[in-house]
Parts: sequence; structure tokens; C-alpha cells
Amino acid sequence: MSIKHVFKRTGGWLYLNTSLGRHPLRGAGVILMLHRVLSNDRAAELPHRNELCVGPEAFEHLLIWLQRYFECVPLMTLLLADPESVPNRPRVALTFDDGWRDNAMNAFPLLRQYQVPASIFLSTDFIGSRQHFWWESIGETLWGSHGQVARHSLIEHLQHAGRPLPVLLDDIDDERRSLALLHYLQSLKSLDPRTLSDLTEACPQGSQPQALDWPQVRMLEDSGLIRFGPHGASHAILTGLDDQRLHEELTRSWTALENGCAQPLPVYCYPNGDNDARVRQQVAAHGFAFALGTEAGLYRNDGDPLNLPRFGVSQRNAHHPELLAWRIRRGAHP
Ligand SMILES: [Zn+2]
Repeated sequence: MSIKHVFKRTGGWLYLNTSLGRHPLRGAGVILMLHRVLSNDRAAELPHRNELCVGPEAFEHLLIWLQRYFECVPLMTLLLADPESVPNRPRVALTFDDGWRDNAMNAFPLLRQYQVPASIFLSTDFIGSRQHFWWESIGETLWGSHGQVARHSLIEHLQHAGRPLPVLLDDIDDERRSLALLHYLQSLKSLDPRTLSDLTEACPQGSQPQALDWPQVRMLEDSGLIRFGPHGASHAILTGLDDQRLHEELTRSWTALENGCAQPLPVYCYPNGDNDARVRQQVAAHGFAFALGTEAGLYRNDGDPLNLPRFGVSQRNAHHPELLAWRIRRGAHP
């Protein structure tokens, strides 16, 4: 472990364990952003999965730690809290993006066990469909999770798309290969949605759907612990859409939630966090008073309610929550 790592963990611990350290958090709220909870921690540790995936042991460790230092509340309780009523411990709300099936299989049993509420933001076209998220399908096919034949065939498709694979992706060291894959996947974000969708089609679809289905959504909502909000319909990046398509995405995602849930959350969650003045204005015009971005920071009543900050949870900082405390501390002192 590096000196920097030890320093951050110690700093994070001091921050939450001393009243002087906790002072900047008074009256502030913390919104955490998660995506997937896999069925094993080893799989979540590789760099190309680390940012979007946590394992069950790290997730349980995080929940226990949160309950010790924070008031775990539903998102709306945090957003609508009276600024005058300051709880002893800062409030935290958990959010999950996309609507992964593993939220029901792996995250929910632990949320129920520890009675921690959470909000899940659905890319509604994927719910109950066998449509796959491109970064997952392309990433795992390149990683070799679906066999070498599928991997080589996808590599050919990527070459045709003008994105040949870097040699580092043939490294025999898992850690280095996974890191190279992470950088390569990030570089694909600039491809147009049509090409990304064709490449996703070229990947094996696996035997299980990746996303939740509507009966699962209703089952989770009926537990009283989970609520759902929109995260786009197709997960298209909203800032890249013209006015007409932006309006369609906002309308289609909200209609799907109204049909599929009893009480959808009136909070929009931007795919990839991307938003600008035009997108925020359209979101407001569709009746949303709040929207979630991905910039790190604390929630106070004085920020832009249509670009709320969140702290991302990775396998690494779920496993070492002092690192998360360190990031929260930095968010308290911008
Ligand atoms: Zn997303």
C-alpha cells in the first residue's frame, strides 16, 4: 500500500471520528452513486470493472460503515430536508444507475438485511428487454468472458469501425490488460450511437438479460425500501440530442416509469452525468425539480438542484470506505 493511500485512509478516518473533522458536514447531505453489485469481489477488483462494479463483501462492508457514521435516508428525504433541522449524523442516500439485474439479485438482499433505502434510476428501454449496454457487452467480449471465437470476431468488427485494438490488450498480466481495456472502452465513447449499437449486436448476448424486468421493479418497490426514477430511455447522452429527440427521451422514460411503478421519483438522472443549460431547461420544463449529475460534491440547499453532485462508489472505496470519507472531505472543502 502506498504512503499516499495510507495518508488518505488515515485522513478519512480522522475526518469522521473527530467533531472538528465532522463540522464541515453539518447540514450537508451525501448522495452516493453506484451501478452494479456483482456476485463476487474478485471479479469486481479488475480495473475495467472497478469503477462501475462492487462485490457483495465490499458492499456489505460499505453498508455497515455508512450506518455507523451516517443517517441512511431515502433520496427524497435528503433532498427535501428542512435546512434548519440538522441531524446528529450527516444524511446519506444511495443511488444506482442504469437498472442492472444484479441490483435485485445481489444488492437488494443486503439493503433489506441492513434496512438501507436506495433509489434506482432506470434506462427504461432496457427494462424487461434483452437489449444490452454497449460497454458491458463490448468490454466483457474483449475480456474473453464469452470465449476466444467471439473475441476475435468482435476485434474484426472494431477494425472495420476504425478502432483497432491496442497491443496492450494482449498483455499476459491481468491487471495491465484490464487497465488497457478500461482506457480502450473510454476511447469508444466518441463513436456514434449507431456504430456502438452495431458493435453490441456483434457480441454474444449471453443467456441472461442484463437489466431488471418490470415485475422485479414492482417487487423491489413493494418492499418500501427502493424507489425508481428515470435515467434516459435509450441511455443516449442528452447533450448530444436535438430538441425533438431530447423531448422524446424525457417523455418516453417518464411514461415507462409511470406505467411500470406505483410512485416514480420526480428526479431525473442524466446518462453519463452529461447536462448543459439547454438539457436542464428541458428537464425543468418536463416537471422535474431535481436532477442528478456525476460531479463530486456535497448536497447543500444552495447548489443547482438540476445538477446535483454525487460521489461515485468503486470496489476500491467500498472496500476501504476511509477513501470515500477522504473524497467527501475534499468535497466539503472545494
Ligand atoms: Zn448510466
